[in-house]
Amino acid sequence: MAEGSGGASGCRVDLAGRVALVTGASRGIGRAIAVRLAACGASVAGVARTKEGLEGTLSAIREAGGTAEGFAADVASPADVQRVVEEIEARFQRIDILVNNAGVTRDGLFLRMEDKAWDEVIDTNLKGTFLFCRAIGALMMRARFGRIVNISSVSGLMGNPGQANYSASKAGVIGFSKTIARELASRGITVNVVAPGFITTDMTDVLPEKVKTEVKERIPVRRLGTPEDIADLVCYLSGPAASYLTGQVIAVDGGMTA
Ligand code: NAP
Repeated sequence: MAEGSGGASGCRVDLAGRVALVTGASRGIGRAIAVRLAACGASVAGVARTKEGLEGTLSAIREAGGTAEGFAADVASPADVQRVVEEIEARFQRIDILVNNAGVTRDGLFLRMEDKAWDEVIDTNLKGTFLFCRAIGALMMRARFGRIVNISSVSGLMGNPGQANYSASKAGVIGFSKTIARELASRGITVNVVAPGFITTDMTDVLPEKVKTEVKERIPVRRLGTPEDIADLVCYLSGPAASYLTGQVIAVDGGMTA
């Protein structure tokens, strides 16, 4: 790996020799995380629902001299998660870093919310995180080392009208992560949560300009976040300097929840 600790990427976190699994790596925040971890020296296993969707991420990493492989799975499916973890282990022999980033929204006012919209969001965002943590936590326990970073949202901290399902899933990720951080700490495994504010990706591109302008006015830093803003922190939490940092929720939101 050309850029283990500094270099063109500007990355100062040394992840050489580490293997990182990133869910939702096909675009947006997940892609930026995958690219950043690879730039710091990790071999990356990217997961999304289709392998085709992952091609852009894989080529970006490989063109920069990194190592990456794509794996197709629905994170809400226990069978898919089990299969894909076995495939990744067979390919890379270990998984040191797990980033649960895959997520969806199905917004609507809760009084009119259909069961399907509730279930899809809880199953992908919360159950998916549980399934990967359970499968990989066991491997990390045996290795007596691991870094888990779960992606929540400021909606899980503050609530957000129209996002009862999403907020519940993201608040669930926080409670779940704090608990497993306590269960895994003595084995050299850290578990932390990153709660992004408003980040420019496909997920937020669909919002009307008027809403984006209103949101920007509520952000003290006066700009929307970028996927790289999130990737930087995930990279730090995955690295050697963060070994005493566990069970924490860090909002990367331009001061929105300050
Ligand atoms: P995005 O651009 O919509 O990307 C979502 C990613 O999740 C894609 O890679 C998608 O892959 C994957 N995914 C969705 N459902 C999946 C499933 N069932 N199985 C496997 N992969 C699945 O979203 P984003 O904005 O980058 O968000 C990434 C994470 O940050 C999410 O957890 C989101 O809730 C959180 N977040 C985002 C913001 C924001 O402002 N953007 C704010 C707070 C939190 P495929 O479609 O290719 O399968």
